[in-house]
Amino acid sequence: MQMPLVLDGVAIAAEIKAEVAIEAGEMIARGVRPGLAVILVGSVAASEMYVRSKVKTCGELGLFSEMLTPPESVTTDELLRMVAELNARAEIDGILIQLPLPAHVDTKRLLEAVSPEKDVDGFHPVNVGRLQSGQPGLQPCTPAGVMEMLRRREIAVAGANAVVIGRSEIVGKPMAMLLLNASATVTVCHSRTRDLARFTREADVLVAAIGRPGFVTAEMVRPGAVLIDVGINRVTDAASVQRFFPHDAGRAAAFQKRGSVVVGDIDPAAFALSSAYTPVPGGVGALTIAMLMSNTVKAAKLRRGA
Ligand code: NAP
Repeated sequence: MQMPLVLDGVAIAAEIKAEVAIEAGEMIARGVRPGLAVILVGSVAASEMYVRSKVKTCGELGLFSEMLTPPESVTTDELLRMVAELNARAEIDGILIQLPLPAHVDTKRLLEAVSPEKDVDGFHPVNVGRLQSGQPGLQPCTPAGVMEMLRRREIAVAGANAVVIGRSEIVGKPMAMLLLNASATVTVCHSRTRDLARFTREADVLVAAIGRPGFVTAEMVRPGAVLIDVGINRVTDAASVQRFFPHDAGRAAAFQKRGSVVVGDIDPAAFALSSAYTPVPGGVGALTIAMLMSNTVKAAKLRRGA
């Protein structure tokens, strides 16, 4: 069997970002600087880290960015006013509300208040509907990144059996819809699916978006399948590190140093059977910010009728 192709998300993200920088440069030359506003509520360390890297990437690509940091105690009404102001500001093309929000905030209401034209996360019902009906619009960054990765590495999905495990609004559902729109034969599995392996073994393209470390084992995978691992799970016990990375001295050292390592939803032992796979880290996760940048430039263009 041939060695599987490693779908290097870092390299593909660099390609996308380079193209976004060129597009942004052309717009700036015409007097329009695409701009992203990010709302970060409270101080959750992981969210702060994500937002900082989004803002930093905007700067690197020449995009304008602004960060709004209301305190944890902010009310839904105050956030709605903030979103309304951003909706009205001409220099803001994209609005991103970093999730999760505190429990007292009405997340659904807030996401629906973002103007669909500025909804760079693609979560607004109007954009969900556009995706459903195959119309151009803003699409959720992670599944859109997976499609971009498949396209750029010439992995054909038309006619393929694609199986998506997970049906979240953020990943699973839009992923299934994008694959369907690309003419794959799509099966969506979830926690109530009976005999999951029966479906996964039929997959030419298998997307795992579950949130459980190494859940998809080698026995569940058809040899030669394309394995797309969306999961990002931190494992903190030595037994799991030994189970998932028995011959990986680098991970063992990282675990010794930090007390945790990141594992996807697919057991790395399954990757050897595949024709192509996304590593974790360095696979799908690396693409999400690049797609956010791409969506911001796309929103800037769509809003100006381009
Ligand atoms: P989520 O909202 O928790 O959804 C998980 C999905 O997995 C649900 O649809 C659930 O089914 C399904 N599931 C759970 N246990 C299952 C089982 N035993 N068998 C079959 N299906 C099962 O998670 P998410 O937001 O979609 O994220 C999924 C993973 O992707 C997480 O690890 C997350 O960290 C990662 N992620 C990565 C990125 C990135 O940039 N790479 C972006 C977003 C998320 P039910 O619907 O029946 O409960």
